[in-house]
Amino acid sequence: MPLLEVKNISKQYEQDKKVLEEVNFNIESGEFVSIIGPSGAGKSTLLRCLNRLVDISNGKIIFQNVDVMNLSKRDLRKHRTQIGMIFQHYNLVSRLTVIENVLHGRLGYKTNIQGILKRYSETEKEEAFTLLEKLGMMEHVYKRCDQLSGGQKQRVGIARALIQHPQILLCDEPIASLDPNASKVIMDHLQNISRSMNITCIVNLHQVDVAKRYSDRIIGLNGGKIVYDGPAEGLTPDI
Ligand code: ADP
Ligand code: ADP
Repeated sequence: MPLLEVKNISKQYEQDKKVLEEVNFNIESGEFVSIIGPSGAGKSTLLRCLNRLVDISNGKIIFQNVDVMNLSKRDLRKHRTQIGMIFQHYNLVSRLTVIENVLHGRLGYKTNIQGILKRYSETEKEEAFTLLEKLGMMEHVYKRCDQLSGGQKQRVGIARALIQHPQILLCDEPIASLDPNASKVIMDHLQNISRSMNITCIVNLHQVDVAKRYSDRIIGLNGGKIVYDGPAEGLTPDI
């Protein structure tokens, strides 16, 4: 049984034209998949459909045999902890420290963040430190996030997602705002996480060379349709 099944999904925002059209694919546990395609292809919409930040117009999304569109409010919250999300612009709370942002991931995103450190057990704090250590962020744990470089912010974003113990990481253009060095650091971390923690990664990228270097499989999206789905080596330059 695949971990995730995307069956014939379409998405239309309001009266506009379809931004996703009859998209089909399965994802197996542990895969590292890149989604590539030009700006406006529908990559971001597709990722957001998977954790229901966006609702699909037609089709089905099945995660571990459960139809994602039929989840109750409570089950949807659980679903979102199983599917961590990494954003191009990090989406951190800039006035909070690194450790506070990571612990915030534990609570869900809509909760009150006053006095966040006091509300966690020592075990939870230890786990946050362990993740930050793994990501090379120990010297920055008490810095406010607005004092960090882009690459450091993205590592906080990754730790915040991992503390929820997700099965899948959805990464929406995680390196689009970073220089080549920071990009490599982030992609290496994602690859490591995928291999050592057996977390499935689905990564939106517009750099085809990066996608080829890191992915087992590439899905090419153009105009809301899948134009390629296969191994990185099989990708021809004009996609
Ligand atoms: P990509 O990530 O590949 O750049 P997006 O999923 O962001 O593609 O966008 C696909 C299309 O959907 C674009 O034409 C974009 O303008 C449109 N779109 C994205 N979000 C919305 C929205 N919230 N409302 C209306 N149109 C949207
Ligand atoms: P808005 O939808 O108005 O941006 P939200 O409070 O819903 O405000 O979300 C704030 C940011 O956090 C958004 O960019 C959203 O994409 C992201 N977000 C919301 N819920 C989740 C979630 N469960 N997992 C990851 N990111 C989330």
